[in-house]
Order: sequence, then structure tokens, then C-alpha cells
Amino acid sequence: MRFQPAPTRYQSMTYRRCGHSGLLLPAISLGLWQNFGHVDSLENSRQMVQRAFDLGITHFDLANNYGPPPGSAEENFGHILYHDLPGYRDELVISTKAGYGMWNGPYGDGGSRKYLIASLNQSLKRMHLEYVDIFYHHRPDPNTPLEETMSALDQIVREGKALYIGLSNYKPAETKKAIDILNQLGTPCLIHQPRYSMLDRWAEEGLLDVLEQEGVGCIPFSPLAQGLLTDKYLSGVPAHSRAARNGSLPEHKLTPEILELIGQLNELAQQRGQTLAQMAIAWLLKDERVTSVLIGASRPEQITDSVQALAHVAFTNDELAVINGLLTV
Ligand code: NDP
Repeated sequence: MRFQPAPTRYQSMTYRRCGHSGLLLPAISLGLWQNFGHVDSLENSRQMVQRAFDLGITHFDLANNYGPPPGSAEENFGHILYHDLPGYRDELVISTKAGYGMWNGPYGDGGSRKYLIASLNQSLKRMHLEYVDIFYHHRPDPNTPLEETMSALDQIVREGKALYIGLSNYKPAETKKAIDILNQLGTPCLIHQPRYSMLDRWAEEGLLDVLEQEGVGCIPFSPLAQGLLTDKYLSGVPAHSRAARNGSLPEHKLTPEILELIGQLNELAQQRGQTLAQMAIAWLLKDERVTSVLIGASRPEQITDSVQALAHVAFTNDELAVINGLLTV
């Protein structure tokens, strides 16, 4: 039987304005970096997209290289859109990116016009889409003039292949430069996607200020530090966890110091009546400059758990002081 989205899906999610734009994003968005490739269960991937949409998550984030193999997350997402969500394209905000190595030879990596335009054309084919809502330059390329990269992004919007432009992993000064060039071209930057969590706070050192001044939204990725900011590693490494499965979260990151910190944060979360995952997401959303928090998941239940963060987003000054104290040790 065809998936029927929950009629209640817009009742509990909150939507936040992305910078000074007209676009609202769900406070929590779903990323397809891991667990959506051809090596994964398509049925589980479908269940996760369905669960997310049922909970009011309208924004799904991809990139050319997500898989493995690279490109397969876009292919699977295209399949899911076609089979489970036909007729819902206008209720969705779909993003993709290019910037990391994707195919052999000199044109499959970086920030050239040649690479970005070819890559987006490939992504659109894989997802069976006419356009994406947001196209990102995935990381800065020091070997390509910033003007060329930004002008390629502007061209992509003018050709109707993306509605908005985003930057990812750009540092504050290069973000400001890129925003200025995009403004001159008449295609303002919509959003920036930095890694940002309780365990990685570089975005607080200038980036969030630039984004606020320029009216650009912010969507932190890896808000749970890839699963570290949950209670799952407190008594060992579970068999199917990310740390057990692949190299993006190597087990050596689970140091006794980190595990002690996580244990203390977990106690505070319990006192707040939340899971640690929920508290880590709420902690990011307490800052109004954060438009949406970009979670990952390996099972639908994790999405349900993470979305419940929205039930308790406020922190007392005492709670924030305790958290800051723990994080700065
Ligand atoms: P998270 O920090 O949210 O980590 C997700 C992982 O945490 C899951 O796979 C799962 O791990 C675990 N998890 C999630 N929810 C829960 C829960 N409620 N309880 C317990 N464990 C949970 O994010 P990701 O690192 O996956 O990144 C999210 C998205 O950000 C990506 O999909 C991508 O879209 C984007 N991204 C962008 C990058 C960029 O350069 N622009 C780089 C990296 C990510 P487990 O498998 O152990 O169950």
C-alpha cells in the first residue's frame, strides 16, 4: 500500500525563518550522509524518510558523494520520492552539494564552474528532479578564484537548477567575502552549513556573528557529534553503532575524558527530563541564529526521539553555566 503522510504532520514541528529570506525551515532537518547508500537497507531508508515527513521534517539534505557508493544516497532518495512522496515536491526543501572528490580526472573535485555545474546536473538526474531548493558549495577551494565559484552558483540559480545557494565549511572571513560577491551578483547566500555541536564550537568564534550581520541562516551538521552526544557509548560500543561500523567516528575518539564528560551531560539531560540527544539538539536551537539542526539517523525511532527535543528547548542560566563549565574543562 502506498505511504500516506500523516495529516497531523504540521501540528507540532516549529518552522524558523532562514536568515532574512522568505524561506522557513523545520527546526530539525534530516541529512542523508550515512545509512541511505546502496550498502544500506532501502526499506530502512524509506522508513526514515517517511517518519521524518510524518513529524513535519520538510527539509532533506544530500550531497553528490553521499552513499556509499558516492551518488547512491541521491539515487535512493530519488526512488523514495518517486514511490512514497509523489505529489509532495512542493512540501519539500531538498538540498545537495558539490565540493569533495566525486569522479576521476581534474573536473570532479573543487570549486570550478566546470565541476559544480556538471555535478549538479548529475545530482538532478540521480534524484529525478528538475531543480533542488538549495545548492551548496561543500567546502572552500583555495585553488579556484572565489569569484568563479560564486558566479557558478549564481548561474545555477539563474538557470533554475537551484532556488537558493548555500556555503558549507567556509571560515568566517571567506564566508563574508563569498557573501559579498553573491550580493553583487544578485543571488544572496541563503544559508551556511558548519559542523557545530557541544563538542565542536568553532562556529561561535566569528561565524555566527557574520551570518547574523549578513542575514544568512545557519544549519549545524553533526549536532550529536555523530552519536557521541547520546547515551549509547556510556557502557561500551554497541554492535551496530557508527563507531563500530565505519571510520568517520573512530573508536579512539571514545576517550575516558570524553566518556566522563558525556556521562555528566547525560545526568544533566536526565534532570531536564530529556535524553542527551534531545538536550544536545535543544542546546543548539537556544540560539536564534540557528535556523535548523541537521540530524542524522540510523533508525526511524532515533528521528522520533530527536524531534522530541522541541518539547523543551529553553535553558535556565544555571543550566547553561553548568554546561559551559563542563565543556570548557
Ligand atoms: P549526528 O551528529 O546527528 O549523528 C547521527 C548519528 O547519531 C546517527 O547515525 C546515529 O548513530 C546517532 N543518533 C542519531 N539520533 C540519535 C538518537 N536520538 N539517539 C541515539 N543515537 C542517535 O549527525 P551526522 O554526523 O549524521 O550528520 C547529519 C547530517 O549533516 C548528514 O547526514 C549530512 O546531511 C550533514 N553533514 C554535512 C557535512 C558537510 O561537510 N556539510 C559533513 C557531515 C554531515 P548510530 O549509527 O550509531 O545509530
